[in-house]
Formats: sequence, structure tokens, C-alpha cells
Amino acid sequence: MAEREERIGRLHRQVAIVTGGASGIGRAIVERFAEEGAIVYCLDLEVAVHEPPPRVRVRQADVSRASDWTAVVEEAMDDYGRVDVLVNNAGIGTWETATELSEETWQRVIDVHQKGSWLGLREVLPKMVAQGGGSVINMSSICGLVARPEAFAYHAAKGALTSMTRNAAVTYAPSAVRVNAIAPGFIVTPLTNVQDAAINDEFIARTPLGHAGSPLDIANGALYLASHESRFVTGITLAIDGGYLAQ
Ligand code: NAP
Repeated sequence: MAEREERIGRLHRQVAIVTGGASGIGRAIVERFAEEGAIVYCLDLEVAVHEPPPRVRVRQADVSRASDWTAVVEEAMDDYGRVDVLVNNAGIGTWETATELSEETWQRVIDVHQKGSWLGLREVLPKMVAQGGGSVINMSSICGLVARPEAFAYHAAKGALTSMTRNAAVTYAPSAVRVNAIAPGFIVTPLTNVQDAAINDEFIARTPLGHAGSPLDIANGALYLASHESRFVTGITLAIDGGYLAQ
């Protein structure tokens, strides 16, 4: 029996939406979910031209635009009649302190991380409630739980995500909808590859396991939270950080 469950996949026939799915952590989640049998709507600002893996539907979408959410969720409902998993992963980096930050940068960071995740919740939660359950995963950060210098707007947005996660978890638990967050530590992705090497070196130096994580480390955590294996888990922020938050 265990062998049969393994073969059919841990997300067999589940319908998932993953934002920021063209790059880094999001891309690893899309691929891991598809490997485990899910149909995955992969949303991103720019969509790759190459052939997506089987079961992956790539769609251009800006998570901060409500109409883009409506279009994708309507498509998933028309095609499959349900949305089982939502991963609010899309994100952008910014390093300005509170005094350096422009209103435009503040607004864009809040729009992508915080408003974008809320719009996803607003569109998907009613479907999950109506179908009798679902799993939402918000991509927070260790910066949503503890501080390092700079990146003021990023800390603001990620802190809000951990709080939004707890609120939605307790609000929708009676409808069997689970809402959790992940707090990645330092992960090697295109986002962190373009930032100052000194910042990356400092993150690694402060990581007890002594090295960076990979997008697959986060995708495996997302797979656990998406699957029924985590059926008694809601409202948590799962740190996948090489021990960073244990200090
Ligand atoms: P990434 O490689 O840059 O991937 C993020 C993806 O999101 C990019 O494809 C990006 O597109 C897309 N995106 C940005 N704004 C969007 C929007 N408005 N609508 C739709 N898609 C949008 O970054 P990553 O490192 O994988 O990060 C993924 C998530 O993990 C983010 O929320 C990030 O804050 C979080 N995180 C990362 C780390 C880390 O160490 N890497 C640590 C903690 C948390 P563009 O490239 O066109 O902007």
C-alpha cells in the first residue's frame, strides 16, 4: 500500500497555484509539486518560452493586480473545479533603511508581498471553503521574525505575512482550510545572487549549519505543508534556515 501511495504522488490530482514560479524558490516548488502529481498554475511577471514540465500551466500575472488573480482562479475552476493549494511566493528584494526608502519602493514592496498575498487569499479562500478544505502557504522570511540591519520595507512586508498567516489560519480552520508560512534562511537564488556578496557571506557566517540553503530545501517544506501529511498543522511559520532562528 505504501509503495502504491509513493507511486501516485503526494499531491496526486491536487490543483495548485504558485506565484513567482518562474525563478528560484517558486520554480523549485512548481517542479516538486508537479513531480508529486499536482496540476500547477505557475504565475510570474515574465513567463519562460521553453516547454513547461507536464501538468504545469504557465501564466503571466502580476500578483498585485486583482484582475490577474480573478482570471487565473476562474481558469482553474473552469478546468478542474477546485483549487487545493495556494503558494504566495512572489517577491522582490530591497535593501534601503527606513530613512533611505522612497514612497515608490515602499509601495511596490508592500504591493507585491503583502497586498499580492492578500489578493490571492481573497480569490482562493472562498473556493477552498466551498470545496471543503485546502492549504495555503505564504512565503515569509527569517526577516519576518527577527531583524537584521537595513531592508526596512522587506521586514515590514514579511512580518505582516506571518501575522496574516495566523489570522487566516484561525479564521478558516472551521472550514478545514489550513494556512501556514515558511521562513527561509539564506537560499541561493537569482534574488540573492544579485545582492552584495558581503551580505550573503554574513548570512552564511551567521547560519549554524554553515552553508546556504537550496530552493529544493524550501520546496520540500512547501510539499509537506501542501500535502495531507500536515493535516493537523495550521498557523505556523516553518523555519527552513540552517538553524539561523535557533540562536
Ligand atoms: P526570485 O528568484 O527573484 O523569484 C521571485 C519571482 O517572483 C521572480 O520570478 C519575480 O519576477 C517574481 N515576481 C516579482 N514580483 C512579482 C509580481 N508582482 N507578480 C508575479 N511575480 C512576481 O526570488 P527567490 O529568492 O526565489 O524568492 C522567492 C520568495 O522567497 C520571495 O518571497 C522572497 O522574499 C522569499 N525569500 C527568499 C529568500 C532567499 O534567500 N532567496 C529568503 C527568505 C525569503 P522578476 O524576476 O521579474 O522580478
